[in-house]
Amino acid sequence: MTSNLIPDDLLRERLVALTRDLILIPSDATRPREIDRGLAFLKNHLEALPHIQIQDFKCKGDRGVLALPEDCQHPQVLLCGHLDVITHSAVSDYGSHIHEGKIVGPGAGDMKGQLAIMFEVFRSFNSQHPEASLGLAITTDEERGGEHGTRYLFEDLGMRCEAALIPDGGGLNEVIIEEKGMVHLKLTSKGHASHAARPWLGINPLEALLGQVQSIQDAFHQGSDDKDHWHPTCTVTIIESSNRSPNRIPAIAKAFLDIRFPRPLTVANVLDSIKERLQANTDFKVIIADEPSHLSPDPLFIQSTEKITGRPVRLIKSHGGSDARFICRYDIPTMVSSPFVGELHSTEEWIDIESMVTFYRVYEDYLQTKLL
Ligand SMILES: [Zn+2]
Repeated sequence: MTSNLIPDDLLRERLVALTRDLILIPSDATRPREIDRGLAFLKNHLEALPHIQIQDFKCKGDRGVLALPEDCQHPQVLLCGHLDVITHSAVSDYGSHIHEGKIVGPGAGDMKGQLAIMFEVFRSFNSQHPEASLGLAITTDEERGGEHGTRYLFEDLGMRCEAALIPDGGGLNEVIIEEKGMVHLKLTSKGHASHAARPWLGINPLEALLGQVQSIQDAFHQGSDDKDHWHPTCTVTIIESSNRSPNRIPAIAKAFLDIRFPRPLTVANVLDSIKERLQANTDFKVIIADEPSHLSPDPLFIQSTEKITGRPVRLIKSHGGSDARFICRYDIPTMVSSPFVGELHSTEEWIDIESMVTFYRVYEDYLQTKLL
């Protein structure tokens, strides 16, 4: 390592301060002005970098910021993060404290701590190597699906890079290589209303729906004895009807399903097998559908992680999806790993401070190997 690297104690101080400043801004979807304030805060810091151009982008009301080297639209490496957090009703919840070596507060681990790391590494790398082809993208809709952030950047604006870093999943030595695909589905079963004392006069859409849901679940639970659960799952999340009377059969019933599935299954396979199991009087509507992803992380990143942490990397599979799915579909190696975090989406969410410092060094080492 070269001698102009920031010493650990100063780095730790900066990462903690920046993370805690970011946590104080309640940047959730219900508070768009706070999201703007968070973006302005980050931009104020970025504007101090002389060779960086900052671009704002906006898709259907969701904003974001792109920081790129001058005259460069497609950086070699792109750091990708999101500023938005899950909603907590009281603004007073958005504070933090330090406890047993962790920063504890809403968004600490998803992903304001990681945002602080990306930000510091971007700043320090650009000041030392202004010629390096390194970009930073900050989106604000990841917690609501990422369609107006990362998808918009890559699909609509044509962003490309040789490698993308997304510190939003996995662990310090756990790099994600596969993510399950997802289908959110709404089923609407139409029956015929009647008095519950004379059910033969009606057609009960709730009972019809339960039978169909059971048959779909049976179809998706093959391989469910696998202890890693690397098999399709189908979970009922909502069942509803407008009926409020225990003695009445309603005319319509709805069920919402959350289906997750690994490769080689595709969205088309999943929808085909659902259609086969639906009765004629049941309609379905796809709310969200995403194919499973294969992330193919850069071997140089695995090397840097092993070198800095002194431990082997485990390539892991993830049951949930991330913004990586919008990038890896263009055959761009995408690295999803993270410092130690926990209690995600609660007010007690945390990020481990020492692992933040180590993680920063992993990024720094990778960028030096890749870009210099
Ligand atoms: Zn996240």
